[in-house]
Amino acid sequence: MPRPSHHGGAVKRVVVTGGAGFLGSHLCTAFIERGDAVVCADNLSTGRMDNIGHLLGRSDFEFVRADVSEGLDVVGPVDVVAHFASPASPPDYHRSPLETMAVGSRGTEHALRLAEANRARFVLASTSEVYGDPVVHPQREDYWGNVNPVGPRSVYDEAKRFAEALTVAYRRTRGVNTGVLRIFNTYGPRMRPHDGRVVTSFITQALTGEPLTIYGDGSQTRSFCYVDDLVRGILAMADSAEPGPVNLGNPDEHTMSELAALIVAITGSPSAVEHHPLPVDDPARRRPDIGRAREVLGWQPEIDTNDGLRRTVDWFAARMDEVAAAASMVAGGQTDGGH
Ligand code: NAD
Ligand code: UDP
Repeated sequence: MPRPSHHGGAVKRVVVTGGAGFLGSHLCTAFIERGDAVVCADNLSTGRMDNIGHLLGRSDFEFVRADVSEGLDVVGPVDVVAHFASPASPPDYHRSPLETMAVGSRGTEHALRLAEANRARFVLASTSEVYGDPVVHPQREDYWGNVNPVGPRSVYDEAKRFAEALTVAYRRTRGVNTGVLRIFNTYGPRMRPHDGRVVTSFITQALTGEPLTIYGDGSQTRSFCYVDDLVRGILAMADSAEPGPVNLGNPDEHTMSELAALIVAITGSPSAVEHHPLPVDDPARRRPDIGRAREVLGWQPEIDTNDGLRRTVDWFAARMDEVAAAASMVAGGQTDGGH
């Protein structure tokens, strides 16, 4: 007889790969908070034990230090496998190109096999990067994308495209209950201040009075989703049998110049902006069409960009030692490998 959970369904045992990372740690917390049990598998390459410190020692939470590209063995029954392990920030995947391809390919297969062996629901964290530098705007799931297969971003983009293809193949040929999520730029507490992504770089620079480093002329756009909104969408996907792909993101689109101005205004920073070369193959625009997420998951974001950025700034402002240490790395360009 399954135990009842706080969310009304049976208690699930969920494996989250990449669970010590930014999104993964919020996801582990959300599963635990609603009454599920979590096994977090992470090799700590870009994740941190601090992110899951509040969960350690609980009987319903287990941390396994493992490289999922090498294997993923979990003893006991598993109801959901959420595959989130992968470097995600451009500087991170430029630093570890082969590891990025390995976790998208072999890592995804290990996670799929674990789901197959347990007849578990499998959720893949894919990305808006599968659309590359999109010629269709906003991006709907039926757009096939515009990716340079040999450019510097391809190690990430093609790994995720392969991961999607592998996931769909396991569904078609092995009957695994899979779901593909295409996640658009997401931000919030627990990002590393020096991870090189634009929101963290601009906040770190604004809080330390350094110039905000805009790549190119700042006219390129992104659409930013606050992490709490995104996690609600991931839970809805995990609870459904929806195969996807489903876009998850906030359609509120901004140029990078607008984002810089917003963060300067929120922080009240004296920082100026300075322009740096645009990275190769940097997508010119990106905005999700979330019609499918609304329809099949009943999901849409609720936290607007201004509110989400304020919450994120507050979180970073409470950790100024770490932010100050990160500022020298961000300003010194140490995070922009491959650009
Ligand atoms: P992150 O770098 O904070 O988290 C990734 C986690 O995966 C880290 O804890 C890292 O240590 C772990 N990891 C990496 N390789 C591993 C391996 N071989 N074995 C075990 N663990 C490994 O990044 P994030 O932003 O939290 O992204 C999480 C997932 O969501 C990634 O798959 C990413 O591609 C996807 N995603 C994120 C965004 C975003 O905006 N944050 C957008 C689209 C997709
Ligand atoms: N970017 C920027 N300054 C920075 C870091 C990034 O102008 O310090 C730009 C980058 O060129 C891209 C956008 O911000 O156009 C988003 O970059 P990020 O690395 O956060 O995500 P992604 O390119 O993967 O969407």
